Amino acid sequence: MASDSSLKNLAGMTPGELRTHLSSAGIEEDYGTKLLYWIYKRSLKRFDDIDNIPKSVIAKLKDHFSPGLFGPMSSVVSDDGSVKYLFRNPAGLLYESVYIPDGRRHTLCVSVQSGCRMGCSFCATGDYGWHGNLAAAEIVNQVLSLPHNITHVVFMGMGEPCDNTDEVIKACNILTAEWGLAKGRTNITVSTVGIMSGLKRFLEETQCNITLSLHSPFPEERVEIIPAELLSPANELISVMKSFVIIRRRRFTVAYVMINGINDTDRHLDALKTLLSGSGIRVNLIPYHPLVDDTCTSSSHERMMYFKHILVTSGIGASVRRSRGSDVSAACGMLAALNRTTQTNNSNL
Ligand code: SF4
Repeated sequence: MASDSSLKNLAGMTPGELRTHLSSAGIEEDYGTKLLYWIYKRSLKRFDDIDNIPKSVIAKLKDHFSPGLFGPMSSVVSDDGSVKYLFRNPAGLLYESVYIPDGRRHTLCVSVQSGCRMGCSFCATGDYGWHGNLAAAEIVNQVLSLPHNITHVVFMGMGEPCDNTDEVIKACNILTAEWGLAKGRTNITVSTVGIMSGLKRFLEETQCNITLSLHSPFPEERVEIIPAELLSPANELISVMKSFVIIRRRRFTVAYVMINGINDTDRHLDALKTLLSGSGIRVNLIPYHPLVDDTCTSSSHERMMYFKHILVTSGIGASVRRSRGSDVSAACGMLAALNRTTQTNNSNL
């Protein structure tokens, strides 16, 4: 029997990778199709659960592979039914996911990194610093290991997708592939502050929805909130999104966190209209969640509804996002693995 550390994790493998590893283990590649079903459709946890592969092959699988799923260390339930989960990967990196039930829609907000190095001013994750990238398998594990029937996945947890592009693209593909989790591509949304090279790859190499964090239509103001504006100005990112032919209900959105008196003036609204007019890009208006010792507050609901009204009547799709999970620091910009010291074992495996 091989030692645990030498076992290869099945979760996170593509069909090609699985065939290669089966072949090196002396196992017929044809078992790959059945294994993919067990990994991604049945969230395989124990080889002994497999009932359509011969016992002799199962024994070989145990010698070379591990199912590779692991559950969260702890969870906190919000009054509104959202649940924030804390994960720790085998390398010790901490990261969070947030489950958000809403009628028939069951969304999981996943992390792509432990922390983040983008340093956005309003974000607790940025304050937590950057501790490392997550592998595609660890991103997909957040969906596979939780006891929910997830219908939508948003890459809006900890970390910046454009700072871990290869693994996020691979995770998107596993989530949408027929051999993988077979989620509808329009049910997957990658949210980014936008780094041009990464954004182009998400546009070209996935069919997922894309949300660009904007927060101000003025470059000199946006850079104060999102330092990545210096590397890739939002107006250039939006030009690329505008020029990209949107096929089959793929949705492009800008996220606009509304801060009272800072970015919610009529001047901002006019510039936002000019920037997005005729683009087909929608606006998602989001309440601001103040951090500790923060003097900024969210725009009022009335002000947010006014922004929405003016945008919609100008021909720009807009919506106001309800705040979810803020009582357990699970809302937008609040994820910082803060309960990392309370390590109650809440694994679902
Ligand atoms: S908003 Fe996103 S990109 Fe900016 S620091 Fe937070 S996690 Fe990173």
